[in-house]
Amino acid sequence: MVILNGKETSDLIKQELAKEVEAFVAAGGKRPHLCAILVGEDGASQTYVNNKERSCKQVGFNSTVLRMPADTTQETLLKEIEKINQNDDVDGLIVQLPLPKHIDEQVVINAIDPNKDVDGFHPVNVGKLSLGLDTFVCATPFGIMKLLERYQIETKGKKCVILGRSNIVGRPMANLLSQKGYPGDCTVTICHSRTENIKEHTLNADIIIAALGVPHFLTADMVKEGAVIIDVGITRVPADNEKGYVLRGDVDYDNVAPKASYITPVPGGVGPMTIVSLLNNTLKAARKREL
Ligand code: NAP
Repeated sequence: MVILNGKETSDLIKQELAKEVEAFVAAGGKRPHLCAILVGEDGASQTYVNNKERSCKQVGFNSTVLRMPADTTQETLLKEIEKINQNDDVDGLIVQLPLPKHIDEQVVINAIDPNKDVDGFHPVNVGKLSLGLDTFVCATPFGIMKLLERYQIETKGKKCVILGRSNIVGRPMANLLSQKGYPGDCTVTICHSRTENIKEHTLNADIIIAALGVPHFLTADMVKEGAVIIDVGITRVPADNEKGYVLRGDVDYDNVAPKASYITPVPGGVGPMTIVSLLNNTLKAARKREL
């Protein structure tokens, strides 16, 4: 069994990106600039945004975080997005999700300039992705594709089961893995909360991608020997420690790992790869603007 080390892989990719950024700037390009908007004080969201800010510095990007109070109105948020859309110094813009309940996430996503939408959530970019056109691929699925690629995991003709059909993970993941080329050419099944007998599907799968947000959902009896297991889930489960919680994946790692050929840990698997994708997309946005 091989552990797919997302932390190590993402560190390597960040070093490569840092070199690319310096070469780009040395050739007269503008230093890439990522702007993140954070509305409210959600603990997990603050951690994600802080990590993104730190990663930007590591690869030589400029980064700005716009922190707005939880009671910010949708109108105020949309105005800020428009200002950033118009700001030529900013290449990439992300709005950290989830947003407070009184704000319509889709309206906010639709307001981001598709050319700055480095999260790849705008309908224009989602549409391009589903057509197999060049676009900003949303970060988590892109990170998983990179991880499969770096570990040279065979995907052609493999049966892949994706647990979860969200717009940010399950659906784009299914799209990418079913497209022609590498990593891709999989036969993909998507399972969700209405799927009957999920185990019947997972037991047949060569590759399982778990993105449900249900801690330890995937157990050893649901997995065939030699399967590749990618765990996207991160749930904060209350614990008697300093932080008051532990992070749990969707896979019962201790019991599934001995049966797997490759498996991602939580934390240190998919999470760090997600941030790298965002950086990659921001550099891509900066390059496109120079053209
Ligand atoms: P989401 O929008 O809540 O979607 C969850 C999906 O799982 C839905 O399609 C839901 O089915 C399905 N589901 C939930 N419970 C199920 C059950 N008991 N049986 C079968 N299907 C079930 O979640 P998400 O945004 O995709 O995130 C999923 C997990 O990944 C979360 O833990 C999240 O924190 C994590 N995540 C991690 C990263 C990272 O960088 N590592 C990035 C994004 C998300 P229905 O559609 O039928 O409701």
